[in-house]
Amino acid sequence: MIKITDLEKFYRTEEVQTIAINKLSFEVKEGEFVSVMGPSGCGKSTLLNILGLLDDPNGGSYLFNGTEVAGFNERKRANLRKHNIGFVFQSFNLIDELSVFENVELPLIYTGVKAAERKERVHEVLEKMQIMHRRKHFPQQLSGGQQQRVAVARAVVNNPKLILADEPTGNLDSSNGNEVMDLLTELNATGTTIIMVTHSEHDAKYSHRIIRMLDGQKVTENILSEFKKRP
Ligand code: ADP
Ligand code: ADP
Repeated sequence: MIKITDLEKFYRTEEVQTIAINKLSFEVKEGEFVSVMGPSGCGKSTLLNILGLLDDPNGGSYLFNGTEVAGFNERKRANLRKHNIGFVFQSFNLIDELSVFENVELPLIYTGVKAAERKERVHEVLEKMQIMHRRKHFPQQLSGGQQQRVAVARAVVNNPKLILADEPTGNLDSSNGNEVMDLLTELNATGTTIIMVTHSEHDAKYSHRIIRMLDGQKVTENILSEFKKRP
């Protein structure tokens, strides 16, 4: 599903150039659950932004479902992104002025789904995340764990093939964190590919494979459980 080869990303500020991603290569198969780990500053967020088509690399190749997307302009990236990729962030990134229902509905508005179908799909996913009873509440009225369940609902309401998660349990206590990890594991079991950045060895154990990074490069890879492609 994803194949990056010799991926590069530089940042230039005044005279200083930072190499955030340095000739990074790896593949992620459809249906896999992969963790990306490494110290602060090693390039994990930059990598997720590129994989999520929020940002464009300076060099190398990025094949998304067989299509070369490195060099795509923002319009083409946005179009691919909104139909194929769901994001889950450490800080939830819900819109405070919108209700739970409206937050989860947003991706469906962006992709042009009609109101009646939007309602049906939002309710279905809120049921699945066990947050339906909170649909009229606003994010600030919810606990951290509930907010992240809403964020996961928003990420999956368009049935994306790929979920990108950036420290999804970083702001949660361990019991809420485990609940969110269980949700991600269930999503993965139904075929959604997941790439998760994490500092938590505990959370990484939910995945099939850990890619460890240092200074924009891959240093090692640990296989945790055998990934078998679903028939
Ligand atoms: P991580 O997510 O692993 O902490 P990042 O991808 O945020 O790492 O950062 C990788 C490197 O790129 C760091 O040296 C960071 O300071 C630098 N960097 C990230 N974003 C920017 C930016 N917008 N401008 C300049 N340098 C940046
Ligand atoms: P952190 O890991 O430092 O808490 P986030 O995961 O919240 O940061 O955000 C990572 C990056 O994604 C940021 O550069 C941010 O601007 C961008 N971003 C956050 N939310 C969205 C969104 N809903 N749509 C598109 N980009 C986003």
